[in-house]
Amino acid sequence: GWPAEEQLLEGLNPAQRKAVVHGGGPLLILAGAGSGKTRVITRRIAWLAARGGVGLDGICAITFTNKAAREMRERVETLLPTRGSWISTFHAMCARILRRDVETLGFEDGTRYTRDFSIYDTADRNSLIKRIVKDLGYDTTRFRPAQVGAWISEQKNLARRGEGEDSLVEGIEHEVLRRVGERYQETLRAANAVDFDDLLLLVLELFDRHPGVRDSYATRFRHVLVDEYQDTNHVQYLLTRHLASAHGNLAVCGDPDQSIYAWRGADIRNILDFERDFPGAEVVRLEQNYRSTQAILDAAQAVIRHNSQRKEKELYTEGEAGEPLGLLECGDENEEADQIALRIAKLRSEGFGYGDLAIFYRVNFMQRALERGLRLAGIPYRIAGGVEFYQRKEIKDLVSYLKLIVNPDDDVAFLRVVNVPARGIGDRSLELLSGWAADRRVSLLRAAASSEARSQIRGRAKKGLEAFAGLMENLRDFAGRSASEALEALLEETDYLTWVVQSSEENAETREENIEEFRANAETFDSDDPEGGLRAFLEDIALVSEVDSLGEGEDAEGRVTLMTVHAAKGLEFPVVFLPGLEEELFPHFRAVMDEAGVGLEEERRLMYVGLTRAMKRLFLSWARTRTHFGQSSWREPSRFLRELPQDLAAESEPDEVDLLGAYDDREAGAGLGEGDWVMHEHFGRGQVERLRGSGVNARATVRFPSAGTKTLLLQYAKLTKL
Ligand code: ATP
Ligand code: MG
Repeated sequence: GWPAEEQLLEGLNPAQRKAVVHGGGPLLILAGAGSGKTRVITRRIAWLAARGGVGLDGICAITFTNKAAREMRERVETLLPTRGSWISTFHAMCARILRRDVETLGFEDGTRYTRDFSIYDTADRNSLIKRIVKDLGYDTTRFRPAQVGAWISEQKNLARRGEGEDSLVEGIEHEVLRRVGERYQETLRAANAVDFDDLLLLVLELFDRHPGVRDSYATRFRHVLVDEYQDTNHVQYLLTRHLASAHGNLAVCGDPDQSIYAWRGADIRNILDFERDFPGAEVVRLEQNYRSTQAILDAAQAVIRHNSQRKEKELYTEGEAGEPLGLLECGDENEEADQIALRIAKLRSEGFGYGDLAIFYRVNFMQRALERGLRLAGIPYRIAGGVEFYQRKEIKDLVSYLKLIVNPDDDVAFLRVVNVPARGIGDRSLELLSGWAADRRVSLLRAAASSEARSQIRGRAKKGLEAFAGLMENLRDFAGRSASEALEALLEETDYLTWVVQSSEENAETREENIEEFRANAETFDSDDPEGGLRAFLEDIALVSEVDSLGEGEDAEGRVTLMTVHAAKGLEFPVVFLPGLEEELFPHFRAVMDEAGVGLEEERRLMYVGLTRAMKRLFLSWARTRTHFGQSSWREPSRFLRELPQDLAAESEPDEVDLLGAYDDREAGAGLGEGDWVMHEHFGRGQVERLRGSGVNARATVRFPSAGTKTLLLQYAKLTKL
């Protein structure tokens, strides 16, 4: 049955109730972080559906991310006995509308999209653009697909604003971009495909040109609700207006201090001008924060007050004062990760679960060191909204190459890289090669190395296979060398980096950074374990992937969450770590360079978002040096740290120093020395060859007569001295 009124209003304060039961007409919920905006939107959906007599069908609710939409759907569905609702992101909503009505939309040339249209994601888009740039005879290194794609996207959205084209690009460049852009749009249309921008723009066009269709949605939905309204762009604003055009029943909520997508076209004016755009709007302010301790809230407010472009809002909590913030100064990014791992161990002993903890980073490359630190400490983690490092295409490619160096019979690795970078080897040639290899029961690489096998294959592919076999032959000797030597040789022989930069199927810059991180990773491995070499490195990687692929579903609760600060918007965690609080990292160097200071204010809002995710504990850290692009540089603490109230951030809390000591003691207590004989529960008796690292990082290399030489983390290895 339908829930009772009391149930729907349970656990809401008077201001929240007012917003939930608001009858009709425009409603603006303007409030700071953690004040229950999302809770109000969710309850209001249930309230309208249950008490407003419109059912869930009559409600259109829009959230910012798929994750947020899923959560909201789940929450509403626990309150209501019905299923199937229009609670989704703008993109998902538009895709759904187009599936029904896109055929109404004819183009000047008489063509139209059909319902079966496909959606191109950013990678698809970029590979298409690359093809076009090439077809038109331009240079793909000068006109990088990702950049051209971003330009096209911007133009499409700008055109809607009637602001004309980007005047920054002029002359020949401009002409090229325009030609590529036109061809791109034609090709999409011919392929019956749309990109992410088109999803929204086509619906807007549909609504503009076909008021009948527009009205069918505007009347079908009796209420429209939008969460995180401060991050809507102009097209989303226009869509929202269309949807609310029949009745004006539009409820939006947002926090101007959390507007963090200006760089992607979000327009903060949408929320600031709401009352003007929708006359008669009721404004509800929520001033009580239910999420964070006083200490966390004070810190967040102290930082955001440094922005000049803002309206001061009230925000208080009746919750506990809470622990002071933890501030960690570290030597470098690896130490930072180890320090975080230490604190996690301590938090666990205080009763927090892994699932209560989150680490937010400003820039993706920081993920590497953090993952390494967690992995060494045996802490389970998951990466939200990102591909795990070793799942990334470029890393997988390089790892496959390395595997093939060590094991030439690895056909899976062969197939992954034989045509990467492109060597003109197509599916047909590979079929022939596989047939030959299967008949003779040899691996693909061996077949490729045989001139008899290659004689069955024609043209470029034949040459390509020969080149590939030769390349692998040249690299063969590196199987017994160190990880970084092998990787360097590989990068040089294949010219992989240049290829990545030039092809840039996805985001060339990010991929380049990832490869640099991978290099640094190989070097660290080599210095930690000089005898291990390439083979041990690959084993190490295989174990990470295995751990990562385990329990992705059930076990997600029991893991520390890693994500970017941007992705953390709207979420909350009992404990939050914010590493990398350094000038030119957070705030990002582009913002620091921005003289107008607009970028800096956006960075500060991002910082505010990060700080306000924390419920109970908050740890901020920075490193005196950090390695990026294979280069180590000296760092300055972030200005945001200086903006915190003095008494809030306790530097290196004493008990945490003790904790460090405890680890060292345990290590010392183990009393191991090189040459000692030890007992291991699986490997039996062995002799310690080398000791290195300290704290959670302490490792021993032990030669076990029965199991060979192993490098073990002392923290977990449980070695008994004999
Ligand atoms: P953000 O600005 O970060 O998106 P928000 O304003 O949307 O935050 P919510 O996520 O809705 O805030 O709520 C923050 C937390 O406070 C949630 O855990 C929510 O369940 C809780 N909360 C909200 N309102 C109340 C209330 N009246 N009583 C108790 N807890 C509440
Ligand atoms: Mg929210």
